[in-house]
Amino acid sequence: MPINELRKDYILDRWVVIAPQRRRRPSDFTENLEERKEKAICPFCPGNEYLTPPASLVYLVKDGELKKDDDKNGLRHKNWVVRCIPNLYPAFMPPNSDNALNPQFNHIYVSREALGYHEVLIESPNHDEHPSTARITQLIYVINALRDRFSFLITRDYVKYVSIFRNYGASAGASLSHAHAQIIAMPIVPKILWEENAVSKKYYEENGRCVFCDIISVEIKSKRFIWNNDGFVIFAPWASINPFEFWIFPKRHQSSILELTEDEV
Ligand SMILES: [Zn+2]
Ligand SMILES: [Zn+2]
Repeated sequence: MPINELRKDYILDRWVVIAPQRRRRPSDFTENLEERKEKAICPFCPGNEYLTPPASLVYLVKDGELKKDDDKNGLRHKNWVVRCIPNLYPAFMPPNSDNALNPQFNHIYVSREALGYHEVLIESPNHDEHPSTARITQLIYVINALRDRFSFLITRDYVKYVSIFRNYGASAGASLSHAHAQIIAMPIVPKILWEENAVSKKYYEENGRCVFCDIISVEIKSKRFIWNNDGFVIFAPWASINPFEFWIFPKRHQSSILELTEDEV
């Protein structure tokens, strides 16, 4: 598969992935739910592992013990509790000799290869085990597996940023309804993060305090407060972009999920 192209906006430092292959993504939402249940085969359900690329990580539980492995030599592990696979229609992919692209660089057109990774974490062998109804033990596997992949991907030398996200439902862009998250490792840091970083640094220089700690100290007592425990606070942000949006802040200073303690997981 040819590598995708990352194109820079004419003016802004904003990059867009041009991915012709992703147009061909399957959709299992074109039919109504009953029809879908009868006809469709879910590639993420146990027994259908051969329909997906080999897993980059599987968690297996045997005699109460967790074992981590990947799929090699045509083997597809069965009886997994979580399973991480390359996305069949990746936005970003690792370099290889037959997917080179001619990057553009002139005064108008700037582009580069969309190097990185795009993986899918299948969160449960149970098709409908989404986080809101999942067993706590299962959610712990999910978070730890995301951490394992994050720590592998962030140490590749062409990876600058790893994003973990989850689409739920067709209207959010999920093309398959089995519980899953996505992991994207990309060669650029998105503009919004540069901006957040620069502004919070400036806030610290001007006020001598951390902006995130200040937000927590206000919102934990405000009507936007939702919930908190020893490690985290959840609140509806002042300038929400979406209805029902909420943010989860760690109370401790930490800049990635790799810094989570076992208790916090
Ligand atoms: Zn399924
Ligand atoms: Zn702070």
